[in-house]
Amino acid sequence: MARVLIVGAGLTGSLCAALLRKEVSSLRYLAVWEKAGDSGGRMTTASSPHNPQCTADLGAQYITCTPHYAKKHQTFYDELLAHGILKLLTSPIEGMMMKEGDFNFVAPQGVSSIIKHYLKESGAEVYFRRCVTQINLRNDKWEVVRETGSPEQFDLVVLTMPVPQILQLQGDIVNWGMDFKFQIALIGAEKGTVQRLSCSLRNLECVKKEDKETSVE
Ligand SMILES: Cc1cc2nc3c(=O)[nH]c(=O)nc-3n(C[C@H](O)[C@H](O)[C@H](O)COP(=O)(O)OP(=O)(O)OC[C@H]3O[C@@H](n4cnc5c(N)ncnc54)[C@H](O)[C@@H]3O)c2cc1C
Repeated sequence: MARVLIVGAGLTGSLCAALLRKEVSSLRYLAVWEKAGDSGGRMTTASSPHNPQCTADLGAQYITCTPHYAKKHQTFYDELLAHGILKLLTSPIEGMMMKEGDFNFVAPQGVSSIIKHYLKESGAEVYFRRCVTQINLRNDKWEVVRETGSPEQFDLVVLTMPVPQILQLQGDIVNWGMDFKFQIALIGAEKGTVQRLSCSLRNLECVKKEDKETSVE
């Protein structure tokens, strides 16, 4: 697998980049393009211009680990805890509903530190202020067009932005009936609609399960 682009530097994009780096030995070039000026997406941490130590998580503020997640993904939590990125949330929060067996974690350096950790692990080249507008197929390569700057070609493109933003993309993908065979192959599916693709990128586990159970035309 020569050149791979991940669009979006939120949790999905950053973790996807880290997993690709870990699992795919033939990966030669991995890039992440993010339209914002920093990573995080809906897990963004803002700092005070007067005091960088003073931060606020603008989206997600804590991570819940249910018994189900603990069983499936304990290594992810362990790794983030070992790096000091997550810490058990022990302070009481007024009105918080806790289910039996759940644990909550906070990120002492801000929730975006989770994303930064995965991006660093991935070794990907991360570019900010690159807003993808079009994706075309040119000689078996995906040509990705951005708002400003030259288009670039990739063997595989993973879209991690929310569905409404995927639907705004222009180019060949609009007419292709969203047959993202190349991309979906990576995560174990054969064919899919854009809705399904987006779901899959949000939850790789869910897609693998779906693939076994359903066939999507
Ligand atoms: C207010 C709020 C509170 C939340 N609280 C919690 C919580 O307590 N616990 C919890 O676990 N979850 C919480 N969530 C959910 C959690 O934040 C999201 O599930 C998670 O951040 C989604 O990550 P993502 O990478 O899938 O998407 P996003 O974070 O949306 O990442 C997509 C990225 O793609 C970029 N992008 C979009 N279009 C383009 C384009 N054309 N070109 C290039 N880049 C593009 C975006 O800028 C963004 O950075 C909360 C969400 C919100 C909004």
